[in-house]
Amino acid sequence: MKYDNPADTLLQVFGYKHFRSPQEEIITRVIQGRDAFVIMPTGGGKSLCFQIPALHRPGVGIVVSPLISLMKDQVDALQANGVEAAFYNSSLGEAEARSVLARLHNKQLDLLYAAPERLMSEGFLERLKEIPVALFAIDEAHCVSQWGHDFRPEYVQLGRLRRLFPQVPMIALTATADKQTREDVVHRLGLDEAGIFVSGFDRPNIRYTVLEKRKPFDQLIEYLAGRPQGDAGIVYALSRRRVEEIAGKLAARGISAAAYHAGVGDKERSRVQEAFLRDELQVVVATVAFGMGIDKPNVRYVVHYDLPKNLESYYQETGRAGRDGLPSEALLLFGYGDIAIIRSFIDGMENPDQQRIESHKLQAMVSFAEAQTCRRRVLLGYFGELLEKECGNCDICLNPPERFDATEDARKALSCVYRVGQRFGMGYVIEVLRGSRNQRVLSLGHDKLSTYGIGKNLAADEWSAIFNQLIHLGYLEKDIANYSVLKLTARARPLLKGEESLFLARPRTKTAAKKVRRVTASGLKYDEGLYEALREVRRQLAKAAGVPPFVIFGDASLAEMAAFKPTDRSAFLEVSGVGAYKLEKYGEEFLAVIRKYV
Ligand code: ADP
Ligand code: ZN
Repeated sequence: MKYDNPADTLLQVFGYKHFRSPQEEIITRVIQGRDAFVIMPTGGGKSLCFQIPALHRPGVGIVVSPLISLMKDQVDALQANGVEAAFYNSSLGEAEARSVLARLHNKQLDLLYAAPERLMSEGFLERLKEIPVALFAIDEAHCVSQWGHDFRPEYVQLGRLRRLFPQVPMIALTATADKQTREDVVHRLGLDEAGIFVSGFDRPNIRYTVLEKRKPFDQLIEYLAGRPQGDAGIVYALSRRRVEEIAGKLAARGISAAAYHAGVGDKERSRVQEAFLRDELQVVVATVAFGMGIDKPNVRYVVHYDLPKNLESYYQETGRAGRDGLPSEALLLFGYGDIAIIRSFIDGMENPDQQRIESHKLQAMVSFAEAQTCRRRVLLGYFGELLEKECGNCDICLNPPERFDATEDARKALSCVYRVGQRFGMGYVIEVLRGSRNQRVLSLGHDKLSTYGIGKNLAADEWSAIFNQLIHLGYLEKDIANYSVLKLTARARPLLKGEESLFLARPRTKTAAKKVRRVTASGLKYDEGLYEALREVRRQLAKAAGVPPFVIFGDASLAEMAAFKPTDRSAFLEVSGVGAYKLEKYGEEFLAVIRKYV
């Protein structure tokens, strides 16, 4: 074929100077005709691992992908780099489908993206036997496993490929790391001979922040207000109803936002997705169970309005931020009330084994949110990866929690639990502490207690923060089986008797003022005025070509242009993401903007 050195292809076709590890190793292996199984986080750069070998090996590379909506963008992006690519799925009309098959037959395609059921139809398999096939790439390979979180029955059929085409290398790719899923993928796809490549799961460009959930909508608004205009983000919430409500309230405030969940009609869903991809919609509010179809490289922030059920989902969802490598944020609003909601889901499960696993996972999620040490360390540790030093890019690292002497408040809290007879939940105890005139308090005579009204110094949510830490530190127990009644533990004694003092972390409800810097992926400051001007040309070109803006150039490329300000063709070619084809196609338009600007 026309290419023979992968590093040249990387530079000339894709405009990138260096492989990320372990891309090169994987690519070499597949070019040699051997199988590979690639486990890499979202945004890690999986696509090149099969795209480059497909350009090197004779024949067409067949890529299986579960999401029709993503195929078109991938194909557009390849075409924008001058690669002969097409897709074959149910979204094509009859004539279009025929023309794709003709190109396939005439060996005009480098890459063909196909839906699994189309690929595995007998007619199509017959066709493939007649032409050279460079490789099979199975994207989102975890979909083949029932252990995974996204099992797709049509993926199971793919297991036949290994036997039907013994000479064709197969590469499976996923961002799901857990061992059981991994073994299942190998087994079901027949990848026993595959080289397995697991790359680090860290996403250093994402800044993790956890806030105590107080008035979540106000917190969200405040957060959005602190963000640069035009930044795109996803807000995840637990239920459809909540998604609708948040999206509606945002829209009412003039923020461009839309709801996205399984109950939204197909038409509206693709409208939302398109608009978001095209940078015409700023915020997508989605249910946690949904949103896999949102695959946009320049998502700048992901907010969890409600607590996710486990760290696996949380990490996957936050991973949708910053796929382009630019600084991005993940914000979790952590409310104790959410734990109870998830717990009731779990209690409703029929299988006790599953209950146990889910409960354990929830516990890990809560521990992450409550952690007072580097978030990234906790997260990666959960996935079995040791972080050598603290990350310097999470709320705890950037702004270590402030501690205050809570001895007096803690004593008030504990003695009030004692005075009400260790028979009430947190909400009620706080009412008594703050001297509520609530009917229940009065009728039980709790306004006569010595602890009645001694906690007026703090607001109710400040008290919840203290109670939660007391529970977490083991001074109090919450009897989950019994209306979440609070009880003292043995540890509470010395504190109550004044033999011990206690420092607690001051809860945080606002992000630290430190703004995410506007820098390139390698950390260089860039010119924001120029960046906006470049975005504008990109928007026009994208509109004219009928593709999402990132297909023309990603934000990371624009950021480099705005940092280096190249004014001639050879300097422009130095920008990451500018290959030979794009230089010819778009170079002059962008150079004109830069020249005019400098
Ligand atoms: P994944 O499929 O693993 O989520 P992608 O293949 O979409 O990730 O890659 C994520 C981003 O990183 C894309 O914008 C891609 O162009 C970019 N990228 C991939 N490999 C490199 C590289 N070697 N150098 C620079 N950018 C890269
Ligand atoms: Zn950190």
